[in-house]
Amino acid sequence: MEELLNGQLKEELKNAYLYLSMAAYFDGLGLRGFANYFKVQAKEELGHAMKMYEFIYGAGGRVSLGDLPKPKDSWSSVINAVEDFHAAEVENTKRFYRLMDESRREGNVSVESFLKWFVDEQVEEVSSAADLLAKVKMIGDHKSALLVLDYKLAERK
Ligand code: MG
Repeated sequence: MEELLNGQLKEELKNAYLYLSMAAYFDGLGLRGFANYFKVQAKEELGHAMKMYEFIYGAGGRVSLGDLPKPKDSWSSVINAVEDFHAAEVENTKRFYRLMDESRREGNVSVESFLKWFVDEQVEEVSSAADLLAKVKMIGDHKSALLVLDYKLAERK
């Protein structure tokens, strides 16, 4: 279980790294609101990684960090980048389901209880990503609408 949790800690860092890369992509396009959205998202993922870190340590385990791959750093369009964001969160949700299954199989009630927060959090994450994806698809090539959304995303804290 410790190995699986360390693996998940790394996945959260991998997503933080990917979202920071997306932020840089959007800053490069001058879409500073989108960039802000993904900077905040990257911090959230770092928070998830730290939550995982503290739990592993608190449960008497050992935190072990692996290599992080270089994240993708260019996308063909705004839609394409947001599609990757959505796909990453859907994939992460499946990972938590598998972790939850494993903790139940082992009868590890404390891990199961700890994971519940993440399972709930993933519902929100996938929902926000799906919402953003629907909006950018709706906007399509309309630059003025994209700028309005960019303005809105600048408000995320
Ligand atoms: Mg996360």
